Amino acid sequence: MQLYISEKNLKALLDRLIADGMRVVAPRMDAGTPLYGPLTDSAGIVLDQLPRRSAKEAFFPLCEDIMSYEKQGRKVSLTDIDPAGFPETVLVGVRPCDAAAIPVLDAVFSWDYKDEFFLERRRKTTIVGLACTKADDACFCTAVGLSPANPKGSDLFLTPLEGGGYACETFTEKGEALVNANRELFAEPNGSTALPLAEPQTERFDLKKVKAWLDGHFEDPAWDSIAVRCVGCGACAFLCPACHCFDIVDEGTEKAGKRRKNWDACGFWKFTHHASGHNPRDLQPKRYRNRIMHKFKYYDDKFGQTLCSGCGRCIRFCPVGIDIAAIVSEISKK
Ligand code: SF4
Ligand code: SF4
Repeated sequence: MQLYISEKNLKALLDRLIADGMRVVAPRMDAGTPLYGPLTDSAGIVLDQLPRRSAKEAFFPLCEDIMSYEKQGRKVSLTDIDPAGFPETVLVGVRPCDAAAIPVLDAVFSWDYKDEFFLERRRKTTIVGLACTKADDACFCTAVGLSPANPKGSDLFLTPLEGGGYACETFTEKGEALVNANRELFAEPNGSTALPLAEPQTERFDLKKVKAWLDGHFEDPAWDSIAVRCVGCGACAFLCPACHCFDIVDEGTEKAGKRRKNWDACGFWKFTHHASGHNPRDLQPKRYRNRIMHKFKYYDDKFGQTLCSGCGRCIRFCPVGIDIAAIVSEISKK
């Protein structure tokens, strides 16, 4: 279904959803930083900046309780958090690099263990994607086969138009249901042309060649030079729309507390530290190698997909200037 929605009506739609009790999550300013988060009204939405962290946290929060415990005398009570209580959500203003990573994550969260915390949020969330009209030097979605107007992962996709408003296209039943329930806010396409789309400058990688090199070079002197600067801060994993490692920890006292699922990162020394004291990834190059291997080889081996959508966040915010696009580009030319 192809339609048109004005900026005014898009805001009216968000306000109506909020008034109806729907959780509306969108980019908004949080202490001066653009982040995805729940809106209290449409005036708070920020659609001209890529949020610092990705949209994955709408499904996989940085930190969440999965159970609580309490001890009274000799009796211990355990209380599970029931994902059935998660709210219906509309996630709005999701850039193509963020939206595309979400179905990629479906594979791992519904693989050997069905993660109901992730999957229930997926079932209850409608994703409204938004095409990009500007890119910076770190963006490289086109190099990994996506584009500034790629609707992968979006239920409904908006493209900004010359003269204002958005071309609006539905891709799933969820997207159609959102439009049909608010049909009077949408109009037939008005013939306006789309604003010029962003043009990321990175040359397209040959992902098959990248994987072929990785298949045969688990041990290679190149890893030392690639990763020598990495300080293992984990920023790249925390900002990434596709990284999904987490740790389960109990936080509390012997009398009461919570079991929590917290983001983790393979760049951390402790990530693979065994109880025996042994650490199979004892040096940072081994940990950075895992990052590249996981994204461009292991995830492809297991699920036939690449674990990078070219959002560029890890390039923008790496404190030592490590550029994953330059590394993968170099590998693709070997
Ligand atoms: S952001 Fe940079 S320094 Fe930090 S772990 Fe990632 S690559 Fe290493
Ligand atoms: S690896 Fe870097 S560029 Fe690729 S999706 Fe993750 S944060 Fe974005």
